[in-house]
Amino acid sequence: MSTRGGVERVAIVGGGPAGAFLARLLVDAGYKVKVFEGAPRYAFKACGWGVPHTIERVFRIPEDIVLVKITGYEVYVGERLSKTGRGRFYGYIIDKERLISSLLEGVDVERRWVDPGRLHGFDLVVDARGHAAYGGRKALALQVEGRVREYPGDAIRIHFLPDLVGYAWVFPLGDGKAKVGVGGIAGRDRLLGHLRSLARTIGLETGGSVMGSAVASGGLRLEGDGIVRIGEAAGAVMPLSGEGIRPSMITARALFESVLGRRSFQDVISGYGLDFNIQVQLGVLRALERSTPAGRIEIFEKAPVEVLECVTAGCVTKSFLAGALARWPGFFLKVARLGGLGGLARGSGGLFAGDQEDATL
Ligand SMILES: Cc1cc2nc3c(=O)[nH]c(=O)nc-3n(C[C@H](O)[C@H](O)[C@H](O)COP(=O)(O)OP(=O)(O)OC[C@H]3O[C@@H](n4cnc5c(N)ncnc54)[C@H](O)[C@@H]3O)c2cc1C
Repeated sequence: MSTRGGVERVAIVGGGPAGAFLARLLVDAGYKVKVFEGAPRYAFKACGWGVPHTIERVFRIPEDIVLVKITGYEVYVGERLSKTGRGRFYGYIIDKERLISSLLEGVDVERRWVDPGRLHGFDLVVDARGHAAYGGRKALALQVEGRVREYPGDAIRIHFLPDLVGYAWVFPLGDGKAKVGVGGIAGRDRLLGHLRSLARTIGLETGGSVMGSAVASGGLRLEGDGIVRIGEAAGAVMPLSGEGIRPSMITARALFESVLGRRSFQDVISGYGLDFNIQVQLGVLRALERSTPAGRIEIFEKAPVEVLECVTAGCVTKSFLAGALARWPGFFLKVARLGGLGGLARGSGGLFAGDQEDATL
């Protein structure tokens, strides 16, 4: 993707983090922008609203959208507490609806579903429709909200699930409430079983429905059919952690820079290390998929916390990786044997294409 000379009128289909951030950047730079959003509310799709501290490199989070500043984490393997972190800034739980509303303040938004291929009268049409427009492999994630007895305070709680490639989470929202979810490479019934079991463990009280959707997990797909895609539509989701808000905003900034002719789209993506970090997570995902449940537990237990924290925050660099390889050769040998390092290559194929789910616990 390169500079788009002569662009004045831009249509953006989809008002998620990707579309809304691109709209804000373009409107502030004087472009005529129209956003098409079909859902009845912003941030309607299920999402944990968690962002790692590295979001600040692409977008400074305003204080009024922060629900919880995350200063700790607990990671369980099954029911057993395996790793903890405390007393540092790891990221935020944000009010995503407020984030999108503030990004779209003063932007021309038309509330209807449209097909980006059928829009006319614009110099550039951007497809930011999220997972539905992504042609690669997808995982599935389900989530419910409610009051929890074992409220994690300012820490997030993660349950690594060795019987499948995936994990469950408890993200605090404040006032004793939390988002409780599960995602992975598995069918809906298995994921729902894990969600029910976690809900019992933490004493979740909810009157709400389980919501969820497919999540792009096959890596970036930037070139191809001539359609300009950003965000999850372009596969900008970390394939192992399922984190998509920050990557989506990086692709929005990359398109903005290329429209302005300042830098190429690919340069910006690489500058943030997004493509490299997605490849790293694809490699780990492959290693986990090739393992037995016992092997997955071993990989997880042996993973140094420094590596775990860096991989999940999307801040792995080539020099970090080289240093980590020298320091923990045994761990990386295990991952490499399972194809997880040579596996810095793109995933492919379609697995799940489920859309918004709805069930009760
Ligand atoms: C259960 C679950 C939990 C998650 N938790 C997290 C998390 O904690 N942190 C994180 O970073 N990521 C999380 N993700 C991933 C994250 O939600 C997405 O990757 C991110 O929102 C993608 O942003 P986007 O703007 O590309 O797409 P989306 O947020 O999907 O936005 C696309 C928008 O386009 C609109 N749209 C679609 N089609 C049309 C059309 N034809 N016409 C008009 N409008 C249309 C949709 O209504 C939607 O508003 C989670 C995903 C799931 C499913």
